Amino acid sequence: MELTIVGGGLAGLTAAIAGAERGADVTLFESHATLGGRARSTAPPYVANDGPHVLYGDGAPYAWLRRRGLVSPSKALPLRGALGARWRYRGRVGGPPAEVLGAATRRRLRAPHDVDFGAWATERLGAATARAVANMMGVALFDADPARLSAAFVWDRFQRVTAPRRPSARYLIGGWGTWVDHLVEQARSRGVRIATRTRVDALPEGPTIVATSLDAARSLLGDDGLRGESGHTLMVDLGLTRRRGDPFLVFDSDECGYLSRYSLVDPTLAPAGEDLVQAQMPVRPGESRADVRLRLETLLDAALPAWRERSTWRREQMARGRTGALDLPGRTWRDRPAIDRGAGVYLAGDRVAAPGLLGEVALTSAVRAATLATAPGNTRSAAPTR
Ligand SMILES: Cc1cc2nc3c(=O)[nH]c(=O)nc-3n(C[C@H](O)[C@H](O)[C@H](O)COP(=O)(O)OP(=O)(O)OC[C@H]3O[C@@H](n4cnc5c(N)ncnc54)[C@H](O)[C@@H]3O)c2cc1C
Repeated sequence: MELTIVGGGLAGLTAAIAGAERGADVTLFESHATLGGRARSTAPPYVANDGPHVLYGDGAPYAWLRRRGLVSPSKALPLRGALGARWRYRGRVGGPPAEVLGAATRRRLRAPHDVDFGAWATERLGAATARAVANMMGVALFDADPARLSAAFVWDRFQRVTAPRRPSARYLIGGWGTWVDHLVEQARSRGVRIATRTRVDALPEGPTIVATSLDAARSLLGDDGLRGESGHTLMVDLGLTRRRGDPFLVFDSDECGYLSRYSLVDPTLAPAGEDLVQAQMPVRPGESRADVRLRLETLLDAALPAWRERSTWRREQMARGRTGALDLPGRTWRDRPAIDRGAGVYLAGDRVAAPGLLGEVALTSAVRAATLATAPGNTRSAAPTR
């Protein structure tokens, strides 16, 4: 059978590989000149990821990829990095707040999905803990007010990020762009045909997986219902001359920001003697770019002494609707746009109905979409004309 994939980001490449593995004759179309979508990285000497940084090694998507040799070389978070994690809390940067440590021991506590995290956590853990935990989860939610989201959504992610065993975060050596190159090579070696600079403006005939952003899928499918909550954040990548004592990670229990010095794990990301840091600060409703930049730089001031004088390179990006799905109270991942759209069309991406953290949603939905699209009987000739 023939299978068409629209979009060559992580979801499209994964769907292409999964479809080829199930015997389909796969063609993938990507509108840009380069593949990878949000998983692209800048060219050396500063290899900054456009979006993602951490692949979680304890999730089902990672196991699926690893079994097939699809993960490029990666390193776990080094112990000194984990131990060197810092928090901004009540205006100071230091070790983990007692509130966060206390919450992290409540492993058996389960949160409901039908109330907001702020209300639930205030009642169960106290107002200060609710705030410290919600705000530090800006690291995975990219939202200026995580307390407004579903309690189960925030709490599950907090438990995953603070799991007591060695953190499962894995850093891809050479940046995510290197992983994209590896996926492309693997897809081609499985017979997938890839056309870049080819924008698809109308749904092709036959089984098709639409692996674009949700916004692009909305116009391609002409379905105004393809909407959902997502993050909004300002990101700054910095090259800095190295200074002993800079933290590896700073969680921000005050304002939901985050920063990480990725070159500690992978020194190839920056020139010798320098570090690569990415910081992000979620945008408040109605906030100007200048104001959020000021708040982000206040976090840098608190965490990285003399960072302005040490700066060798800087890039700034605004990410809106690009950081994956957020679930509001009363909703779970099952309430997001369904993968199966009927008539041989399937959705994959990080804002559709699939479980997981951030990019895991894109990977899981891609495998599911490929499985459905290649199910027996779902052949090109059987697909209705659109
Ligand atoms: C700041 C930030 C931090 C993040 N951190 C993490 C992290 O640490 N870990 C993690 O797992 N995830 C993280 N994510 C999320 C992760 O980046 C995404 O979930 C993932 O990259 C989404 O992949 P995708 O293939 O679904 O979408 P995309 O990467 O957006 O790919 C869609 C592709 O479709 C193409 N396209 C669109 N329209 C058309 C068309 N009409 N025809 C042809 N092609 C088209 C686009 O050009 C693009 O290449 C982060 C994201 C951001 C922005």
